[in-house]
Amino acid sequence: MDATTGPGATSRDARSMETLDSLGEFAAIDQVTRGLTMSSAVSVGPGDDSAVFLVNGSAVVSTDLLIEGVHFRTEWSDAEHIGRKAVAVNAADLEAMGATPVSMVLSLGAPGELPTSWLREFATGVQQEAERAGICLVGGDTTRARDITINVTVIGQTEGREPVLRSGARAGDVVAVKGRLGWAAAGLAVLARGFRSPRAAVGSQRCPQVPYGAGREAAAAGATAMLDVSDGLLADLGHIAQASGVVIDLDRARFEPDEPVRTVASAHGKDPMVFILTGGEDHAMAACFPPGSVPDDWQVLGQVRACESDEAPRVLVDGLPWQGSEGWDHFA
Ligand code: ADP
Ligand code: MG
Repeated sequence: MDATTGPGATSRDARSMETLDSLGEFAAIDQVTRGLTMSSAVSVGPGDDSAVFLVNGSAVVSTDLLIEGVHFRTEWSDAEHIGRKAVAVNAADLEAMGATPVSMVLSLGAPGELPTSWLREFATGVQQEAERAGICLVGGDTTRARDITINVTVIGQTEGREPVLRSGARAGDVVAVKGRLGWAAAGLAVLARGFRSPRAAVGSQRCPQVPYGAGREAAAAGATAMLDVSDGLLADLGHIAQASGVVIDLDRARFEPDEPVRTVASAHGKDPMVFILTGGEDHAMAACFPPGSVPDDWQVLGQVRACESDEAPRVLVDGLPWQGSEGWDHFA
């Protein structure tokens, strides 16, 4: 409904006071789904009992739940960023399998007193990020809840490629990353001190810049194992090491901290490597490749070797467990 036409026509001021309670469920759904465009793979989008779409190859599914106060704070992130992030973190999981995103469903719980403007901005963020990720919103559910609760489920397709698992890394592989490392953690450090800049780092905390297409690129290049970095590079590569039964050894000299990470680290008297190695939420792609098959614009950071006789799978930096200024001996 447009502000200037129809029974819902109201002044801008009255609109800004409007809440989900006064809007009602079906108008709320309309706020989220209006203006959506569907790809040719989707034959039934929002509005019927189920959605219908084609997948090429195996279907790949992933889901994430975001809860106000746990995963985001409305005072730190505006609705548009929350909408973008809800899509981005899910699309990154599909990318990390080497899959191509196809469609998603979005379920939203929200308090009745939430302003309609919040929902409208949230929907804008969802639609913008969905477009970037190349994914269509095909359905969902909308309900009242005490806290804002967002569940996105994404569906991708393998298009004839094998999915890239965490368990495929082999001794002799090279470890490489595409995307940002440490930006979101640097942004969080800034926000926690009540600051708003550097804006690039803060922006990464509000919504990750997922390197869309990188996962498929890695899969096509023959990646043996892959994931998206959500908990921190050391922790996440630890999952590959564990699942593959290997040791991953990173070369500190290969890391080039990005400018916003260096700026925040020096302002906070920290080693930028702490943000890079232990900061999550940037959703970069990290993958292992057979030597010689790393795609051009991926940053090589280390290598995979076999576990020695009674050595456990683990991640090392320059051959040693990381003992950064945060005192992480977790990987020892
Ligand atoms: P049902 O009663 O079958 O659950 P609903 O009334 O909940 O149907 O939803 C009506 C239509 O709107 C469905 O096609 C559903 O997929 C879609 N829909 C509801 N909420 C959302 C949402 N948050 N995002 C996208 N589509 C939605
Ligand atoms: Mg429903």
